[in-house]
Amino acid sequence: MGAQCRAVLEAGADLLHLDVMDGHFVPNLTMGPQLCEDLRKALPEAYLDVHLMVTDPGDFVEPFAKAGANALSFHIEVLDAPGAIELCERVRSMGVSPAIVVNPQTPVEKLEPVLEHVDMALVMSVNPGFGGQAFIEQTLRKTEWLRQRVRGNQRIEMDGGVSPETAARVREAGCDVLVAGSAVFRQPRERWSELIQNLRGDA
Ligand code: ZN
Repeated sequence: MGAQCRAVLEAGADLLHLDVMDGHFVPNLTMGPQLCEDLRKALPEAYLDVHLMVTDPGDFVEPFAKAGANALSFHIEVLDAPGAIELCERVRSMGVSPAIVVNPQTPVEKLEPVLEHVDMALVMSVNPGFGGQAFIEQTLRKTEWLRQRVRGNQRIEMDGGVSPETAARVREAGCDVLVAGSAVFRQPRERWSELIQNLRGDA
């Protein structure tokens, strides 16, 4: 995994997005803090963007901060607004960048009270839990809504079904961080650089 991650960074990726699944908030299980720590050791310069698809994000903030995460995002579906704001402050106090995530079925307006406390808002463009799903077009509206509300130094990220076919619409809707998994990793390594340029809109 370290070799794959190094290769994707060399091919032009700006960061590594780690999908942490707890088998509860989503049906799947992926990685824990140990894998994050191992990646941090293997790739000291990499920006590690950790997406906590978990029911109790508060339990994982400290372990992932210690494991070398640069950013930690957690879901609005598992927190009320005061709880999300408190968690943002905890994350920031550990020197990590806080972000809030919204699932496809959740109204984006739920993010409003939390927005000023985060560095990034993450719009899920598939139902979280598995890779390789089809992009849900309506989620682009959420990005447009966010784009009108965020400050210049806040980012909007989109995760799920981002590919050369959807990336232009994602960028035009106002996203500046695009997460791609299958679109890159299911292709031969010789094509990664071209694919990443394509996602970025440089092609
Ligand atoms: Zn993710």
